[in-house]
Amino acid sequence: MKINRRIFMGNSVIAASTLAAPTVFADGHAKPRVVVIGGGAGGATAARYIAKDSKGKIDVTLVEPSRMYYTCFFSNLYLGGVKSIDDLGHSYGKIAAGGVNVVHDWAVGVDRDSKTVSLASGSSVPYDKLILSPGIDFIDGAVEGWNLSSQNAMPHAYKGGSQTELLKAQIASMPQGGTYAMVAPPNPYRCPPGPYERVSMVAHYLKSNNPTAKIIVADPKPKFSKQGLFQEGWAKHYDGMIEWISSDFGGGNVSVDPNEMTVSIDGETVKVDVCNVIPAMKAGRIAELAGVTEGNFAPVNASDMSTKANADIYVLGDASQQGDMPKSGFSANSQAKVCANAVRGSLTGSKVFPAKFSNTCWSLVHENDGIKVGATYKATAEKIAKVDGFISATNESAELRKATYEESEGWYAGITADMFG
Ligand SMILES: Cc1cc2nc3c(=O)[nH]c(=O)nc-3n(C[C@H](O)[C@H](O)[C@H](O)COP(=O)(O)OP(=O)(O)OC[C@H]3O[C@@H](n4cnc5c(N)ncnc54)[C@H](O)[C@@H]3O)c2cc1C
Repeated sequence: MKINRRIFMGNSVIAASTLAAPTVFADGHAKPRVVVIGGGAGGATAARYIAKDSKGKIDVTLVEPSRMYYTCFFSNLYLGGVKSIDDLGHSYGKIAAGGVNVVHDWAVGVDRDSKTVSLASGSSVPYDKLILSPGIDFIDGAVEGWNLSSQNAMPHAYKGGSQTELLKAQIASMPQGGTYAMVAPPNPYRCPPGPYERVSMVAHYLKSNNPTAKIIVADPKPKFSKQGLFQEGWAKHYDGMIEWISSDFGGGNVSVDPNEMTVSIDGETVKVDVCNVIPAMKAGRIAELAGVTEGNFAPVNASDMSTKANADIYVLGDASQQGDMPKSGFSANSQAKVCANAVRGSLTGSKVFPAKFSNTCWSLVHENDGIKVGATYKATAEKIAKVDGFISATNESAELRKATYEESEGWYAGITADMFG
């Protein structure tokens, strides 16, 4: 008998069960289920790509508490007065329209035996594959005198949104000739050039609005990303405004007092008007609760971002410990595409391409003065390994710096569309 295609399509579940036994996934479900925790750079990309490329063959649920995601990337440009807060916000509407079940809630636990994620609302979501991209949390006690309850007095502004707005408001309220202090983080942390682009953009704002103000940076590191390029720009655009105290000069010996608004650096106490404390970082807490971290981050296999601890749990972006890639939005997006391809392949048998990764970190030193550092990477048995890289040079022409900034604007538009649709 010839199968009538229209009827076959219309009764696909019955037809499938009579013709061949389908694979049964978690909870007796006919379709494989992927749950993604965290709708940021890594999670939004992974959810969108799996739903888009599997064409309905995989149920994808994205768990994310916020209704709007405010990027940390370009948030320094908002502090510098170059971008508005609205430029940084992205909603989840297009991801939902692309077939992802978007659940606005916190994931509060992972049961690896029953393969379920529990939510703050009390419900739970079953998974066959679980992808975690929860970003970072801060290590308790990393900066003496500071804890999370100090974040209103001394913001970190290292998670997007309200913290960034708070820091901007504090900078705008500084008295003329006042002092902005930054406590920079130790390695490894999200966005290696981020604190130094921030210093540049705060200086850019102050130069026009508060030209006698001072910036002090206490740094637990002896050197930092794109240091020569930043320091060249600071001397050129903001001469005498920025004092960077490295670990060689006691920059790592720091305590703060949020009530008194003081910072002590190597025994010397300074009264400040704004104090931006960026503490040491670890993987977002849910990675720890899922039991996939070792130390502060989650070790992963470079070929697919699956964790060393559990083959059905994957970790992307800042929470992962993967090798040579910096913790950046670009890296998280690149890792998410490799992971999405591998997860889809393992659940539906689709072709899996060899893992390739890339990253570029642009920074803005002054209006139209953009610099960049980047690299390509491959998966080895041990890690994500750097293949080759590039970096801007000192003494570049103003035209090239402007072109580099314009390239970063194009990148922002392209990558946020890739993440959020
Ligand atoms: C000042 C600054 C400048 C930066 N500039 C750049 C740049 O120019 N280029 C670049 O590429 N990168 C930049 N970055 C880095 C970039 O923001 C991060 O590396 C990137 O966001 C990491 O992506 P992620 O998916 O790991 O985490 P995130 O993007 O932080 O996403 C994590 C998401 O998980 C959610 N979440 C956390 N816990 C839970 C839970 N339990 N349940 C449900 N949801 C949860 C959070 O709400 C959040 O939305 C910058 C960062 C900063 C701070």
